[in-house]
Amino acid sequence: MPQDSTYILMGFQGDTVYRTVQEPVRTDTALLLQRVHVMTGKQQYRADWVGNWLFGIFMGVLLIRLFFPRFPQRLRLFFYSLKAKGVYDDKQIDYHAILQQYLPYYRNLPPAEQERFVRRTVVFMTTKQFEYVEIAPEERMPLLISATAVQLTFGLEHYLMEHFEKIYVMHHDYHYGFNSVPFQGHVTHDGIYLSWSNFLKGYDNYQDGDNVGLHEMAHALAYVNFNVEDGRDDDFHDRFVRFSRTGRAVFEDMQSDHTGGFLGRYAATRYEEFWAVCVENFFERPTSFKIQLPELYAAMCVLLNQDILTGNVLLSPVENV
Ligand SMILES: [Zn+2]
Repeated sequence: MPQDSTYILMGFQGDTVYRTVQEPVRTDTALLLQRVHVMTGKQQYRADWVGNWLFGIFMGVLLIRLFFPRFPQRLRLFFYSLKAKGVYDDKQIDYHAILQQYLPYYRNLPPAEQERFVRRTVVFMTTKQFEYVEIAPEERMPLLISATAVQLTFGLEHYLMEHFEKIYVMHHDYHYGFNSVPFQGHVTHDGIYLSWSNFLKGYDNYQDGDNVGLHEMAHALAYVNFNVEDGRDDDFHDRFVRFSRTGRAVFEDMQSDHTGGFLGRYAATRYEEFWAVCVENFFERPTSFKIQLPELYAAMCVLLNQDILTGNVLLSPVENV
């Protein structure tokens, strides 16, 4: 290529085209202007390059948010799962001892399922933010509260109830809103609320069908499946429709029966409470439940994919640890 020419490479259908031009006579001023022009061109190139990258990143984020709206939560869960693995490796023996002490459900699990239970509990606990209201935190609090959620969802693939990022732990009964009756626990769009003294009572007496931890987790599970999208288990959601064919009939019978029957009067107040009370009795009084309301008990087993009256507990294996 001649020294006095410049060239332009044009990729066009595989051909390369050379264009030869005569370079003009250069004065100092012209040379200076050319240098200025060259520098400005590089800066312009850099500005274009940065601009294109920023635009690309912006469009990438926009498209990800558009087509994968839960991507930020998924990313956060990924980092939580890494953290959970470290916690599990460090604390599994301690956690096993605490769960063994407090949770009859855990004590009755086969060893392999106990290991899966601890893993799930640690992941659940790691993904939640626990807020302690007028009570000093203890290590067993987030562990046992998380374990209650895992007990309820142990037969489901999707168990993290992602919508709920916060769990509030109060000391005793508390007043909420304009309600004159004190609460032991409740669930709102903002979080799951539990009073610790009542939570412990639920496990101190595990045969009376009264367990505020299981009760509120039942509300939370219904909430993530029917009120919001984040945390839904598709199989549970579909099976709940079938459960309700039996459940609604029992609920309507209870409303005309002023004694309340096996599940009690509170279960007849609203279908949401009926569901939560069914969960409490399913775990705490399974034998009586099965005798008193056999069709409803069978519907609960199918819905939750577990039957604690059988040795293996789970009706069919769960893929997700
Ligand atoms: Zn309730």
